[in-house]
Amino acid sequence: MDTINSIAIDGPAASGKSTLAQNLAESLGYLFFDTGLMYRAVTCAVLDRNGDVNDGAFCTRVAETAQIDVRPCSVDDGRQADVYIDGQDRTWQIRAPEVESCVSIVAAYPGVRKALSAQQRRIGLRGEVVMVGRDIGTVVLPEARLKVYLDASVEERARRRFEERTGEDYAAVLESMKERDRLDASRDLAPLRIAEDAVVINSDGKDADVILAEVLAILKSQANGG
Ligand code: C5P
Repeated sequence: MDTINSIAIDGPAASGKSTLAQNLAESLGYLFFDTGLMYRAVTCAVLDRNGDVNDGAFCTRVAETAQIDVRPCSVDDGRQADVYIDGQDRTWQIRAPEVESCVSIVAAYPGVRKALSAQQRRIGLRGEVVMVGRDIGTVVLPEARLKVYLDASVEERARRRFEERTGEDYAAVLESMKERDRLDASRDLAPLRIAEDAVVINSDGKDADVILAEVLAILKSQANGG
């Protein structure tokens, strides 16, 4: 298998994947692409249409037909990118707890995964992309030149999410994260797992710049044939 000049970053929710990927993309001049946005956008579109997330055929139709656009930030309100669904700015709605509690159900349907991962693979194969998700190194882009699996304890991940948000209690965030981890790791198709050739990094108690330096050092030693 020929290697592609893209980087795969996988791991559970709130392990620091997006921060690492953004920093890495900036350092290397690559495109940062967060595949979780697409699963969230489809879930949001299902709910917008008053659809039932337990109806796999309906969710698949939405994944195949909704117009999901990810564009560079147009508003300085802390967003990483603008996310449009059928022409409407839904950047913050896709982060809402209602979407978060259903996204792993929607993401488990084979039809939804097929529709989204084909688009992700096409983007990743162009090269020079840092792609973030759950199955990038294992399914979407196994040819990636580097695969990182970023992990952290569930308590630390829930604490990070809790600190980003207001109005939710820690116990509820922790429970919802455990449930999402369970669903993401146990689904039949493309479950969250560590690719055989992935570098595993634990982000517990580590600053983002330490993790970035670790990954840049690995890339450097790769380039030197190490
Ligand atoms: O990364 P993020 O938390 O935004 O992802 C939201 C959800 O989308 C995950 O919990 C998972 O169910 C799904 N997902 C996936 N495969 C990916 C990226 C995300 O199944 N490559």
